[in-house]
Amino acid sequence: MPIADKMVKMVESASMIRKMFEEGIRMREKYGADNVFDFSLGNPDVPPPAVVKETLLNLINNEAISHGYMPNPGYPHVRQAVADYLNKEYEVGLTSDLVVMTAGAAGALNDVLRALMNPGEDILVPAPYFVGYNQYAFVVGANLKTVASQSDFHLDLDAIQAAITEKTRVMLINSPNNPTGIVYNKAELLGLGKVLDAASEKFGKRIYLISDEPYRKISYGVDVPSVFDVYPHTIVLTSYSKELSLAGERIGYLAIHPKAEDAAMIAGAAGVANTMMYVNAPALFQQVVGQLQGVSVDIGIYKRRRDMFCEGLQAAGYEFDVPEGAFYLFPKSPIEDDIKFAGILQENNILAVPGTAFGGPGHFRLSYAVPDKTITGSFDGFKKAFDSVK
Ligand code: PLP
Repeated sequence: MPIADKMVKMVESASMIRKMFEEGIRMREKYGADNVFDFSLGNPDVPPPAVVKETLLNLINNEAISHGYMPNPGYPHVRQAVADYLNKEYEVGLTSDLVVMTAGAAGALNDVLRALMNPGEDILVPAPYFVGYNQYAFVVGANLKTVASQSDFHLDLDAIQAAITEKTRVMLINSPNNPTGIVYNKAELLGLGKVLDAASEKFGKRIYLISDEPYRKISYGVDVPSVFDVYPHTIVLTSYSKELSLAGERIGYLAIHPKAEDAAMIAGAAGVANTMMYVNAPALFQQVVGQLQGVSVDIGIYKRRRDMFCEGLQAAGYEFDVPEGAFYLFPKSPIEDDIKFAGILQENNILAVPGTAFGGPGHFRLSYAVPDKTITGSFDGFKKAFDSVK
């Protein structure tokens, strides 16, 4: 093998979504773009708010912008702008030295896991979960240990408590959730905080909570509680990929609760981790987002699509929990074998990702970050696929 032995498994496991992506290109060429209904990718199609372009042009034309290196954790004024915004939202008393600008949420996860994890330690994650976590765990030599959620995808606190061992260093959650669209409520998060505190005491080792929140601003009339309020030993991370539709620009940050045990040391290590991966977050877009704290795309677009999609899928016979946030639906597969059912959908020119890829077998994931007509045009195919197995 020309590639490292341990990479072979990673390449294989990455292939399910990549295969979908390649299949989408092949199908569009064969059937025409209007006849293929591709729900496989969470790549926002809603344009960034106009103010993004204005800010970018203003920076380029009028301000003495910098293109050089900066302190590895990011521009001080941008980190201050993020800290000010978070303090306004959550009254958490953050200082800018506890904020690290990153290359998207993926960069933030890589940084914070590199800062916290020793090889062989466990990252505990509720399943189903975002597939990228396998890769981030791999990079730091940690084990990604999944713990099943309740049937409605809320946290199963008893199962989490039972899964924690002396090897657990981090609990990683994601709300609003990819792939389920669930938003964790305050009560279950408070319960989680208590479980983590008790387990840290029991094992004599601080367990940190990492909250991956790239969909925080994409919710539909429900409260997305602050994780900072439930457990001080928390690192929140996010990106502007979804809330400003800037996924390709690779910009995000992590922020450490000021009362987290060894907060300053973790921030320092995360900043050094930056230098190991990509040196610093992209300079131009740090300067852009520094001026756009609190701005987001029009969430009404995703809500309209969610409602439209739910109505069509329900009429076709599918069962699912109505998503409260993010832009994914996670319906039950009408047959047990979700990989087989994704194949049946594909015969009807519909691309969906089997739940198995997210540790959620018996389901499939649909991203509605797609034009309205892709959703409405797919309903016949969804019905045919459902009827063919019933
Ligand atoms: N975390 C979750 C739950 C995601 O869905 C994604 C991307 O889809 C990421 C992290 C990575 O986000 P980014 O593209 O900002 O690195």
